[in-house]
Amino acid sequence: MARIVMKFGGTSVADLDRIRNVAARVKREVDAGHEVAVVVSAMAGVTNQLVAWCQSLSPLHDAREYDAVVATGEQVTAGLTAIALQELGVEARSWQGWQIPLLTDGAHGKARIDRIEGAELIRRMQAGQVPVVAGFQGIGPDHRVTTLGRGGSDTSAVALAAALHAERCDIYTDVDGIYTTDPRIVAKARKLDRIAYEEMLELASVGAKVLQTRSVELAMKERVRVQVLSSFADTPGSLVVDEDEIVEKAAVAGIAYSREEAKLTVRRVPDRPGIAAAIFGPLAAAGINVDMIVQNIGADGLTDMTFTLPRADLPRARKVLDGVRAGIGFAELLADADVAKISVVGVGMRSHAGVANTMFRTLAEKGINIQVISTSEIKVSVLIGAEYTELAVRALHTAYGLDAA
Ligand code: ADP
Ligand code: ASP
Ligand code: MG
Repeated sequence: MARIVMKFGGTSVADLDRIRNVAARVKREVDAGHEVAVVVSAMAGVTNQLVAWCQSLSPLHDAREYDAVVATGEQVTAGLTAIALQELGVEARSWQGWQIPLLTDGAHGKARIDRIEGAELIRRMQAGQVPVVAGFQGIGPDHRVTTLGRGGSDTSAVALAAALHAERCDIYTDVDGIYTTDPRIVAKARKLDRIAYEEMLELASVGAKVLQTRSVELAMKERVRVQVLSSFADTPGSLVVDEDEIVEKAAVAGIAYSREEAKLTVRRVPDRPGIAAAIFGPLAAAGINVDMIVQNIGADGLTDMTFTLPRADLPRARKVLDGVRAGIGFAELLADADVAKISVVGVGMRSHAGVANTMFRTLAEKGINIQVISTSEIKVSVLIGAEYTELAVRALHTAYGLDAA
């Protein structure tokens, strides 16, 4: 007998038949004698719709009200899943973030989990009840609903698994595991039986949506065993494990892409000490995460500063920089949202040379121009025109020998 957390993503609860399918899967584990807690996402497409409504009313909407709106999707599926379970004779009860409570900080729209009070849920599980938790949401210090950032139900599930001292956290989704790249754009992507926490962390942080970055961060810190598997098939999934559990370390374990970034260039800023702080300080203060940065060679004491940021933050970043324009004295702001970031990741990079060079050469052969480059110990990322995303990912997948046989 084990205690497990089962998380179901949006496509897994997309309609009532799928919710019945989820309930049947949960019942199977309950019948096997396990204590089960369930975490659900909103039905596929619902969160997008809720976000779009907020954005249509006001691009710079109040983050507290955004949370009040977008957290509702998970409330619906938690209740429906509990009903579907009850219908199968499984004792179940839905839980919203505030009811548990799942306590977060006050960063509305991208809150971090501070603590989960697990005692009551554990007591109920021991008494044979299945808690069905609304993922993605919590309650902040202001006693208002918070959400954990897009894809946040993964983090709800891992945090819950840690708080409940669960043996496993099973993430059920619409693919049957973690692949060398998104199987939806590369048919030859290969399923990985295992992937190191660090690799998955890096892949998630550069756009592999299969797990939210924070969920991996948390799993690594709290030693939660995470498995990604399909809610539609009975094939074994992929495990996220310690690096030393992986025998053969390829230079590149996986490739990810993100079309959710934008490039912003601050044109003709004075090239003097403190200029980077003057630009990035106010952006950081506004909670905007800047990623890749290049400073172009200056002429006449002036320079161009180019960086990437989440596309959704573009309107706010413009507003912040317009606000400090007089103090900094730049000529103009140029925004380009038609970009994609392509990243190759692997712990083997520490010991294999030439990984970046293979990337540059492969893209050059395809005539793809690289706009910005950034690297870390186990990652190389490039920014390219969005229209080349698929071409670049496929070519790199082949170049690093990742194609399935
Ligand atoms: P859920 O709604 O279940 O949380 P997501 O859409 O958030 O599902 O994540 C699953 C999707 O992640 C898959 O459908 C796939 O297109 C995408 N994906 C991106 N990179 C990978 C990868 N390396 N391995 C598997 N899936 C990936
Ligand atoms: N429903 C939320 C989203 O679409 C959370 C999640 O699915 O993990 O981002
Ligand atoms: Mg997801």
